[in-house]
Amino acid sequence: MKYDIVIIGAGPAGLSAAVYARRAGLTVAVLEQNIYGGQIVNTPEVENYPGVGRQTGVELAMALYNQAADTGADIVLEGVTEVRLQQDPKVVVTTGGEYEAGAVIIANGAKRRLLGCPGEDTFSGRGVSYCATCDGAFFRGKEVSIVGGGNTALEDALFLANNCSKVYLIHRRDQFRGSKILVDAVVAKQNIEILYDSTVEEVTGSDKVEAIRVRNKLSGEEQSLPVSALFVAVGLAPENSLFTDQVELSEAGYIKAGEDCCTSCDGVFVAGDTRTKELRQIVTAAADGAVAATAAARWLDTH
Ligand SMILES: Cc1cc2nc3c(=O)[nH]c(=O)nc-3n(C[C@H](O)[C@H](O)[C@H](O)COP(=O)(O)OP(=O)(O)OC[C@H]3O[C@@H](n4cnc5c(N)ncnc54)[C@H](O)[C@@H]3O)c2cc1C
Repeated sequence: MKYDIVIIGAGPAGLSAAVYARRAGLTVAVLEQNIYGGQIVNTPEVENYPGVGRQTGVELAMALYNQAADTGADIVLEGVTEVRLQQDPKVVVTTGGEYEAGAVIIANGAKRRLLGCPGEDTFSGRGVSYCATCDGAFFRGKEVSIVGGGNTALEDALFLANNCSKVYLIHRRDQFRGSKILVDAVVAKQNIEILYDSTVEEVTGSDKVEAIRVRNKLSGEEQSLPVSALFVAVGLAPENSLFTDQVELSEAGYIKAGEDCCTSCDGVFVAGDTRTKELRQIVTAAADGAVAATAAARWLDTH
């Protein structure tokens, strides 16, 4: 199969890129390994994407998908397993076949970071969760815990507090990194207990999570909290091993690019959370998609 542009990832960045590339008259394939819409399908509510008001992540994901599909982009549920980007045409290998492309846009997003404590892996899916929206309802009326200090952890703590009897919010520093409005809401919530300067040392239980061991970094004191779940919300990690040696990566593993979304490899562009950038949000991912597709179209015109 041959396309003008192959886009890796059907999150906000990839789907936005598809709309712009199709409107430039190009043939487009969007390849997705998991679920259309990317990370936002895990978001209970999005209220900061301009022009659409309040929506659930799933609603916004469906709107993005439908808009891209309506333009005539081929959106295919196949994971990319290998790329050969430094040749012409470029080749993208998936779980379903091989695609040739004039230009490639990488929009593969980022993944949640793991905590790395004993028991996390053992109890993953049995009380340890990385998605409060997906799994919070399983713990309705129970005592749960969440670890993290950014907006995601704060949003998730509020979401859990509406479903669970008590939420322990564990943060390794003495103040949160998230926005003030969320911090204020969390602090005001009666059934959220905040443990500052604290780390989760271990997740314990027999068949499923029964407790977590928490250590105060300042006093060294440890306590066991009887909880049914630990939600991990400690940030993102890029997964760009597919592209090593073909495009330049930052030390942290993000694909190096400026606001022009151009990578170090000719004819390869990058959009969204996977690239080096200050703000990883839906609006910036969608904007990147537009920029990357426009740059790719121009590049194709001259090559
Ligand atoms: C819980 C949560 C709440 C959030 N809330 C908000 C919010 O309220 N407002 C906001 O603006 N932002 C929010 N964000 C951030 C926002 O979701 C991201 O910034 C945005 O989704 C990034 O879009 P993206 O397209 O770059 O990447 P992603 O959304 O990560 O999409 C990348 C896609 O690429 C796919 N992919 C990866 N590797 C491959 C491969 N090898 N082959 C094929 N496909 C692949 C992935 O499966 C994924 O679908 C939230 C994030 C989370 C996790």
